[in-house]
Formats: sequence, C-alpha cells, structure tokens
Amino acid sequence: MFNIIIFGKPGSGKGTQADFLKDKYDLYHISTGDLFRKNITNETKLGLEAKSYLDNGDLVPDSVTIKMLENEVLSNKQVNGYIFDGFPRTLNQAKSLDFFLASIDLKINATIALEVSEDELISRLLDRGKITNRSDDQDIDKIKNRFNEYNNKTSILINFYRSQDKFFSVDGKGSVNDITSRLFDLVDSLI
Ligand code: ADP
Repeated sequence: MFNIIIFGKPGSGKGTQADFLKDKYDLYHISTGDLFRKNITNETKLGLEAKSYLDNGDLVPDSVTIKMLENEVLSNKQVNGYIFDGFPRTLNQAKSLDFFLASIDLKINATIALEVSEDELISRLLDRGKITNRSDDQDIDKIKNRFNEYNNKTSILINFYRSQDKFFSVDGKGSVNDITSRLFDLVDSLI
C-alpha cells in the first residue's frame, strides 16, 4: 500500500492532481471537501451540520470531519492505497489519522505539498467560482478566510510531517501537465 496526502492552500490544485495520481498509481481518492459537498447536496444530517462552515470558508469541526474520513476509508478497503485530499487540515486530524491508520496496519508514506503564491491562488479561485456553483470561491472575504484557516491551523502540519521525514514539496505553478509530471517524478522516486 502506498498512501499519500496531497497538501496545499485552497486552489493549489490538490483535487485536479489527485485525480491524475489516483489513475496512475491506482489509488483511492478521498476528498473531504467533495464528501461534504455531496452530503450538502443530498441534504444528509452530516451535510446540514457542515453547510454553514463551508459557506463561510471555515473548517468543519474535527469531531465531524474525522469520523467522516474514517468511515470513507473503512468502506473502501480493497485498494492499493489512498490519496487524501483536503485531509488532514489540523494537528488533531493529523494525529488522529496516524492513530487510525496504525489501527488498521497502515501508515502515511508521503505528504506532498503544491506550492503556489496567494496572489495566484486568489485569481484561480475567482476563476473557478465563475464556472462552478461554489459560493466559497465567489467572495474574496471567504477566500481570505480560507487562507487564514490554512495559515492558523493547517500550515503547522508541514513540521509535523517533516519531523517524520515524510514532507515533500512541488512547485505548483505552471501548466497542469507540467505539475503532473513533477508529481509523477517525485512519487516514482518514493515507491
Ligand atoms: P479548498 O482546498 O479549495 O478549500 P476543499 O474542497 O478541499 O477546497 O474544502 C472546502 C471546504 O470544506 C473547506 O473550506 C472546509 O469548510 C471544508 N473542509 C474540507 N476538508 C476539511 C477538513 N479536513 N477539516 C475541516 N473542514 C474541511
């Protein structure tokens, strides 16, 4: 099993690149953002709980997010590995993930960050907001709030994974194809 976390600020291309990695290395892709949005569309209890957080660009509480993630892993166990996209986003989530994976004899092999400047991200997110219905991509204050959430709660994970020798970063600027090649080169060197 090869389990990867794809890491980066909102708009850095995690979801796009996770799709390519999933296909090439035959991984199961888990996007917590997509799972929340699916639950919101289907008006499940979990969706109702998460909606106001997503609408404002705030992180959903760990208690909700961690349980959802664990259920998704446990319901999809016959796979070659997982690619976690948008999880973990807090230290508590990262520690819970290590603990949970160990309980099923798994571990994270690598955390790969896509590095992109905030100016570039703002323009990408506003562009994405024009073609999708994501209200959190259509409002500059919500976008900035998501960066604040990242800077306050998520960026500390860089040191968490660095201290385990599992942190790698890739330049996330350029064409989608270029970034995919950089990621494939890195993953090939790790497996
Ligand atoms: P982006 O990376 O562009 O912010 P995502 O689809 O990954 O997009 O996340 C959208 C929203 O879903 C976040 O702003 C947050 O409200 C919620 N969310 C996603 N993953 C998590 C998580 N691990 N912990 C808490 N909230 C999350």
